[in-house]
Order: sequence, then structure tokens, then C-alpha cells
Amino acid sequence: MKVFENLESEVRSYCRSFTTVFAKASNAMMWDVAGKSYIDFFAGAGALNYGHNNTRIRSQLIRYLMEDGVTHSLDMATEAKKNFLTAFKALILEPRQLDYKVMFPGPTGTNAVESALKIARKVTGRTNIISFTNAFHGMSAGSLAATGNRFKRNGAGMKLNGTTFMPYDGYFGQSVDTSMILEKMIDDPGSGIDLPAAIILETVQGEGGLNTAGADWLRRVEQICRKHGMLLIVDDVQMGCGRTGTFFSFEDAGIEPDIVCLSKSIGGYGLPLALTLIKPAYDVWQPGEHNGTFRGNNLAFIAAAEALHYWTSEEFRQGLAEKENQLRKKLKKLAAGAPETIAEVRGKGLIQGLVFHKAEWASALCAEAFKRGLIMETSGPHDEVAKIMPPLTIEPQVLERGLFIVEKALYAVVEQERSGGKLSLAK
Ligand code: PMP
Repeated sequence: MKVFENLESEVRSYCRSFTTVFAKASNAMMWDVAGKSYIDFFAGAGALNYGHNNTRIRSQLIRYLMEDGVTHSLDMATEAKKNFLTAFKALILEPRQLDYKVMFPGPTGTNAVESALKIARKVTGRTNIISFTNAFHGMSAGSLAATGNRFKRNGAGMKLNGTTFMPYDGYFGQSVDTSMILEKMIDDPGSGIDLPAAIILETVQGEGGLNTAGADWLRRVEQICRKHGMLLIVDDVQMGCGRTGTFFSFEDAGIEPDIVCLSKSIGGYGLPLALTLIKPAYDVWQPGEHNGTFRGNNLAFIAAAEALHYWTSEEFRQGLAEKENQLRKKLKKLAAGAPETIAEVRGKGLIQGLVFHKAEWASALCAEAFKRGLIMETSGPHDEVAKIMPPLTIEPQVLERGLFIVEKALYAVVEQERSGGKLSLAK
């Protein structure tokens, strides 16, 4: 690790938690240079939904490379882009009766969000954007302004403008319907809130603690948008591409956002790609008005087009639902056995987590799990949630083995705590 400590900026983060040098990876497994294996319950923070080195996608990439396919092309028309667009329409949009124009911003989530905010402001002629408590939308100035986390916001070193924060679903507990607060504040010309161009939200807050918006709440928010001529932007950068069990995270709620941001796993193989999906009526860009050098990542188009075929497989979708249940059952059992340690189980699909009464227990669990060969991370404003997000393609037996490590690591944390406290955990 010395090379990284000496040469890499202090800003590095994950290599501080996962203190080894990785060399190889396959589906939900990683190996370090010493040959030690790890089960991956992090999946590139959601960029590896189809696993590491997915063989089906890799063979398409190798074929394309060997045929001298164009790799970089700005946003010129290429065969790879044509095939991706056609596949996206046929396999994702049409079966869901969705109609969006596809914009390629720079290949990161934050760039998709920046473009979404710009277009909402351009369409409505308004500047204010409503975002929610504990939202995470990215690290560049515009999207950081819509991000709740104080530490991350402070990193901007300047005033972050143009956003108003409202309480997310469940922020004051289940008894308070925060959509009513939102509606009142926007309805009321005396509330001090400038009429917003858009509301941006995650249906499950991946970085903000796995808070999950209810379907009713999402529908109410959509209605409020319609009532006041505001655009509804769903940031599906982390929750899209199947993380919550359906391709788009908002499918179950039956809402139809005006703009959808996708990145992370849309590139299929962990390759950088982002999409901003825009309702055709709002596609009011001038040519080149939101530009970028790396919008034509043709390798990502090849990988993405192949990955989309998973969504035509009933077996894949069924497997996803079964693994969601497997994960939930196990986490509920762990939580029920340790009520003094674990407050609740949160999340949806293959992103679920344990919320700890004391934030440091979540970090301790992740550190202990890493020692035992499992990679997982914390989430939430206090890092109080131990988050589990394996590749969607994880084999059920590898998922089980990983969960067994979580269980053992939890016992170890409780044992450590016991020396100074009175925690108990049913075995
Ligand atoms: N939006 C959401 C919901 C995210 O989870 C993230 C990344 N964690 C981003 C935007 C930013 O994506 P990127 O890191 O690719 O800029």
C-alpha cells in the first residue's frame, strides 16, 4: 500500500478501508495479489450489477476490439452507438411503454445530473430545484448543490446555489407524511420558496442511508410536480439497472419521470457511460449546448447493449426476486437476534442494509467482514448503515457464504462491545 500512500492524493478513500492490492475478479469474487479471495458485496458502488468480468459481455468487447471497432468518437454516429440505442429502445423503453430521447452527457452520474438540472431550468425558465434530505446526486457544483451531506458540500469551497431541501419520505418517522409539507410549502406563495424548475429524487437513497420512498409518496410528489409545472427528475444512477429488482427503480410506483439519470451499471462491464433520458417535449437543447469529450464511449455501448439482454430473461428476473428474499430473510433474522445492536433492516432488491443504533458498529462490522474476506461499505449521514449490494448476477450460494461472513463479523463486533457493555445476540 506504500505506493498509494506516497503517490496518490489524500482524497483516496476506498483503498483506506479495503487495505489490499486487488489483482483479479470474476462475478462476485475478487482476489488480491497474495491470492486471498473476497466476496464482493459492494459491486463498484453499483457499477458492477452484472458482475466483474462478465464473460458474456467480455466476449462482445473482445470481438469488437479484434475487429478494429471505433473506440473513441466524441458523439459521432457509430455502429456501436446505433446498436445500443436500438437495443435500449426495444428491450427497455418499449416493453415499459416509456418514451424518452436519449442524451449522452459525460460518462459519470454527476454529469447526467448536471445535464438534467440544466434542462429543467431551460425548459421552465426557473432556477430553483427541490432536493431532499440525505440526497446524493454527485460531486460537481450543480449536483453537489442538490446533495445533502454537509461534509461533501463543504468540499466545494464556495456557496452552492439554486436548491431548496425538503424532508424525504420518513424523515420525521412514519407518522408524518412529508409530501404534505412539500405541497404546502410549494402551494403557499408566502413560504419563501421560489417556484421550482424541478424536483430531483432517488427512490432509495443509496448513499444517504437506504431510506426508501413509498409508492404513494412518489405518486404524490409526481402530482405536485404536475400541479405546479415542475419537472420530475429521478436520479437512478445507483438504483437503476435493476438494483431494486426492476430495471428502473420507479417502475413499481407507476410514476413517469420527465427526466431520468442513469450511469454506473448502464455501461455493463464497469465501463463509464451515462444517460439522461428526456421526455421528447423537453428535449430543447441547442446542438452542443451540453458537451463533453467522452460521450462516445463505444466500448461501453458494446457492453451496455449486451447487458440489456439480461432484461429479456424471465429466469434472470425470477433469480433476482429470489435473491432479494434470501437477503431480506437473513438480515431480518440477524436484526431480530440483536435488537440492542441493530435498529432495523432497510432497502429494497439487492440493496439492503442493517441500521445500527451506534454508527461506529456499522464501520466495525465492515472492517471485521473485510478481515474475513468480504467487501462491504457503510452508508448514511453518520455511516450508521452497513450496506449490502452484491452484483445482481451473484450465485445464491456465494450470497449465502457472504451473509454467513456478515453474521460471524456481527458476532465478533458484539463480542468486542460486550467487554465494555451489555449487548446480547441470540446465536
Ligand atoms: N447520483 C447517485 C444517486 C449516486 O449514487 C451517485 C454516485 N454514488 C451519483 C449520482 C454520482 O455518480 P458519479 O460518481 O458517477 O459522478
